[in-house]
Amino acid sequence: MQTRRDFLQKMTGSVLALSALSSTAVAACADPERKNDSPVLRVAIMGLGSYGTRVAEAMKTCTKAKLVGVISGTPAKIKAWQTKYNIPEKNCYNYENFDRIKDNPDIDAVYVITPNGLHHNQVIRVAMAKKHVICEKPMAVNAKEGQEMVDACRNAGVKLLVGYRMHFEPHTLEIIRMRKAGEFGKVLFFQGLSGFIIGDPSQWRLNRALSGGGSMMDIGIYSINGSRYMIGEDPIWVTAQEPPKTNPMKFKEGVDETIQFQLGFPGGAVASCLSTYSLNNLDRFFLDGTQGFAELMPSTGYGPIAGRTHKGVLDQPVTTHQTVQMDEMSGILLEGHQPIVAVDGLEAVKDLKIIDAIYQATKSGQKVELHL
Ligand code: NDP
Repeated sequence: MQTRRDFLQKMTGSVLALSALSSTAVAACADPERKNDSPVLRVAIMGLGSYGTRVAEAMKTCTKAKLVGVISGTPAKIKAWQTKYNIPEKNCYNYENFDRIKDNPDIDAVYVITPNGLHHNQVIRVAMAKKHVICEKPMAVNAKEGQEMVDACRNAGVKLLVGYRMHFEPHTLEIIRMRKAGEFGKVLFFQGLSGFIIGDPSQWRLNRALSGGGSMMDIGIYSINGSRYMIGEDPIWVTAQEPPKTNPMKFKEGVDETIQFQLGFPGGAVASCLSTYSLNNLDRFFLDGTQGFAELMPSTGYGPIAGRTHKGVLDQPVTTHQTVQMDEMSGILLEGHQPIVAVDGLEAVKDLKIIDAIYQATKSGQKVELHL
């Protein structure tokens, strides 16, 4: 049985200074004030909602990243987080004044965890404040806005990463390793199933202005992104179908409930995927090649991720995704490490181009060519 530390050493062995994973680093886990050999990424979280809370909790056990600031529109949450995470007043901002973060030398990066439709403006403002940005998925509500965010960060000389936590997940990375080693033979098929039953009809996820769409933006993106890292190529065409909505009051114009889509890849593989807000128990990836297969189920939930291949059950360690993600992103932002699967803004723009094309295909009924 591998420990998390074993996994991290294996995972980034060639790119990550092993000193960062020494016993010193492990000790730093227990004593947050004690520094390990690597620099610590000092992070402010923007948007103290459900996922922001999950990230903050996970960061408690990071060795290379630390929560030091907050940006929120809710003063009561700021107070509560200050107490809970020992955040000084000088590192607290709201949506009106967070541009002032530019003058705060104690914050290295801002993690934007707000509704999708707000990311574009907020990420660009953070970039102009000369801080690195981590942005949640979907990075934007279309590829054009996504590219503008990439350009803004490049022009400001800061890095832009996207919260693709599965890119650091051990079972996922083992399948990627096996695929690269040719253990599945020629990969010809991927199936991605991503969905859950969405509740409260008044939530922002069902408000197009804030969500940018429906299930595709929120959960279908996992199958899109997953098809790319599982197959190891970028698709060249897409077809998509949207069945009639079961509840048009809940799923209004521009908010997709269910879409099935197919992606074609240059090597000949095809992906067949389902994105929905109306079914639970839908979190499965299946990859098939001429010499073997891989299955992940659950494939992208918070875990524990489970999987098997033609060689047997995967026994990779179970990790807290957000803890590993933030430690790894610290290495990327502060030490120039290269992740096994890209997590930068351009990676996200590719997913957004695919989403744009899927929406286009559902309307036209035609195959849409992709140029990623
Ligand atoms: P929540 O609704 O739980 O939280 C969003 C927070 O954003 C709010 O609590 C609020 O925080 C802030 N906010 C600012 N403006 C608004 C507004 N107009 N309406 C609502 N909230 C606002 O959403 P989630 O945390 O679930 O999702 C946030 C982002 O994280 C989304 O982009 C989502 O796709 C992504 N996400 C990613 C996941 C992953 O696994 N990678 C999982 C879940 C979500 P405050 O009061 O502090 O201002």
